[in-house]
Amino acid sequence: MTALFWFRRDLRLDDNHGLYRALTRFERVVPVFIYDSQILGKLDNCSDSRLKLIDEALDDLDQKLAGNGTSILRLYGDPALLIPQAALQLGALTVITNADYEPYARERDQRIHDQLGKLNIPFERYKDHVIFHESEITKADGLPYVVYTPYSRAWKTRLTPADYQLFPSQSFIGRLSRATNTEQLPVVPNSLSCGMEPATAVIQGTTEAAQRMLDRFRTRLSSYGSNRDFPAKNGVSFLSPYLRFGQVSIRECVRMALSSKSDGAQKWLNELIWRDFYSQILWHFPQSATQSFNPAYRNLNFPSDETLFSAWCDGRTGFPLVDAAMRQLNQTGWMHNRLRMVTASFLVKDLLVDWRWGETYFASKLLDFDLASNNGGWQWAASTGCDAQPWFRIFNPVTQSEKFDPDGSFIRKYVPELAAVPPKWIHQPWTLTPVDQHTFNCRIGSDYPAPIVDHSEQRQKALTLFQSARQ
Ligand code: FAD
Repeated sequence: MTALFWFRRDLRLDDNHGLYRALTRFERVVPVFIYDSQILGKLDNCSDSRLKLIDEALDDLDQKLAGNGTSILRLYGDPALLIPQAALQLGALTVITNADYEPYARERDQRIHDQLGKLNIPFERYKDHVIFHESEITKADGLPYVVYTPYSRAWKTRLTPADYQLFPSQSFIGRLSRATNTEQLPVVPNSLSCGMEPATAVIQGTTEAAQRMLDRFRTRLSSYGSNRDFPAKNGVSFLSPYLRFGQVSIRECVRMALSSKSDGAQKWLNELIWRDFYSQILWHFPQSATQSFNPAYRNLNFPSDETLFSAWCDGRTGFPLVDAAMRQLNQTGWMHNRLRMVTASFLVKDLLVDWRWGETYFASKLLDFDLASNNGGWQWAASTGCDAQPWFRIFNPVTQSEKFDPDGSFIRKYVPELAAVPPKWIHQPWTLTPVDQHTFNCRIGSDYPAPIVDHSEQRQKALTLFQSARQ
């Protein structure tokens, strides 16, 4: 009795729901991973840190399986063709995987389900990526929640230990078996054989690296509430890439949040719930992946100036916190949540660029890129989303900088041109006199750009833009 287990966003052996189901029912389970040619083909850059993380995660799993003489069968191509082909060739009675809720994955999985159905091979999908999926938390009338607070209340009310139980898949990994008879399949050793080029990543892709990060965060959990908004502090968990690729299980995070009564733990749980919230929003409203969730803002007429957009992408807007944040993203593939809100708001409401341009840029850079959370975050900042920042609330990039990076240490880390500028001026260095600019080694317009827009003027323009869309 052989089953095929298809690893996707769940690159770990333990506490893996689908893997547990496969291993406890079948004597022989062949693990497979597919480098999806549809996804790889759409990447802007052949050298992508996310592929480096995936390769490392798979190598790590292979090392753990080597003792059993097993490894993960890695294939390259279109999963809709390869999964049925592999199932047939390997003699699998069932194909098991964990559910993926994004629109592309849903459509792809439906095709696979139909193809396998023709072969009489069941396709089983288990809930692993979220605590509650799209139809588990709904309003009394069965409709989805579109406002976070009542959703999170219902989420907490419904939660029982079964929802965050540990699935001890690790205990059965002796049942994972090497694939034989793979001659007809496009087997590859890693992403470099799929047209990708070597890449570097600032974190490691292994489950041990993810566990270390989780363990370090455990010691900071109680202070999460007070530190989480300050990018210079070690306040947040930094776990998002591991939650994205599955080196850490969401149930383990919830268990950790519930293990403490601290204010920090409660706040962290709320953030984990945002993840489920946005996942169900995208499920019920897949059209929001390409257009404003709120119909009132579908015809916002953004000027979307390409020069301003490029300056934002490069971290050369002349607004230090925005520039530091964009450089953090460009250099590390990660950006602090507060800064995601600040940079997104700045792009839309100061530079008047279509939010989808920013969303696409983030998607190309973030190690933790997740369509539901990214789209939700962008639509929140752009005021076009389901439970969004009100359209008339516009972050002031200088005030945000003074408030959340008061001594400028985060700015100095990523904008070395401002390294010598004292805290008093670092949030708006253009107010330095020419003599002080010289003293602090930062001549505005040559060492560091002058602000590319005037915030108060742009603010007015943004308000007019939103008002006219609302009429
Ligand atoms: P922590 O503060 O430690 O939170 C723990 C986990 O909770 C996160 O890893 C994440 O899984 C979840 N979480 C926290 N905040 C949110 C949130 N607002 N929405 C959804 N889930 C959340 N998150 C992504 O995982 N992928 C994205 O592509 C993404 N794009 C974003 C774009 C914008 C414009 C904004 C405003 C937010 C975006 N977020 C995204 C949400 C959030 O910024 C990141 O999850 C968080 O910064 C990751 O850092 P962390 O793991 O240290 O988070």
